[in-house]
Amino acid sequence: MYFADYHMHSKYSFDGAEELEAMCREAVKKGLNEIAVTDHMDIYEGLDYGQMKNFDVDQDLPPFGPDGRPSYDFPGGQLVEIPGGSMVMPGGVLCKMDVSGLYTQLYALTARWAGRLKVRVGSELGQPMRNKAAADKFLADWPLDFVIGSIHNMDHDLDVYYYDFTKLDPARVYSAYLDRLLELAREGDFDVLGHITYPVRYMEKGIGRQLDLTPFTDRFRDLFGILEYAGRGIELNVSGLCRGIGSTMPPLPILKLYRECHGEIITVGSDAHELAHIGGYQQEAQDMLLEAGFRYITTFEKRKADFVKIS
Ligand SMILES: [Zn+2]
Ligand SMILES: [Zn+2]
Repeated sequence: MYFADYHMHSKYSFDGAEELEAMCREAVKKGLNEIAVTDHMDIYEGLDYGQMKNFDVDQDLPPFGPDGRPSYDFPGGQLVEIPGGSMVMPGGVLCKMDVSGLYTQLYALTARWAGRLKVRVGSELGQPMRNKAAADKFLADWPLDFVIGSIHNMDHDLDVYYYDFTKLDPARVYSAYLDRLLELAREGDFDVLGHITYPVRYMEKGIGRQLDLTPFTDRFRDLFGILEYAGRGIELNVSGLCRGIGSTMPPLPILKLYRECHGEIITVGSDAHELAHIGGYQQEAQDMLLEAGFRYITTFEKRKADFVKIS
């Protein structure tokens, strides 16, 4: 058995808190052979890499409205049109990430843990096509082993996390999300696409049911075709299992479709933002991959894929 958790966040991510050293200790404790630390590098139009808009900043207002749902009716917020409807967008503020602190530490850590744990230097690069110059400069400045290309933010740089799906048309939102995945797959510099059914998780909370992905089958085929042609892959993100949501991103039928489309490159990631989730559901993920027809998981060094047999 070879376990490689290829998606996790440290205190250097805006939404993480854990020390890198503690993450390595936890990985060894959980019996992992290899990890990739993939802190967020979300890219925004008109900003340098490392600068970001933090929408989640107004601590003084009650986080929940009268209906018990999150309230984003912030001062500074504005009514905006988004795919599937309109919503009040929270007012964001600019903040900065300690990019140099992260990678200086991470390069040192890789050497320090050699022989006990393979530590890969990664990034979760969010919507790089929003500002290709900033994304390219980031990749040129910091030599990485592995890059997840993700879409979190859609129109107005707003994370889908904030969308109120009780008031939006979920199918239209997912269709717009797929447009962006296709754009990223065509233009982006990355190794695997992250959590390709990301909005579906938040839809489940809003509408109380799974979105039917069957109508998107042809577009998934297009997406997987583009990835295969470019020598890129996807991830099996098990954060939903770690957090008790019960589903993976993507779910099994889409994994099977990816394999049917000759997809081979696939990493497994917990998307852990806390120590307890590191290395979660590795065995279950490999069992799922076997069921979907995969025989190998993928690991990366210096952006080059390697294949480890599932046993
Ligand atoms: Zn993500
Ligand atoms: Zn992540």
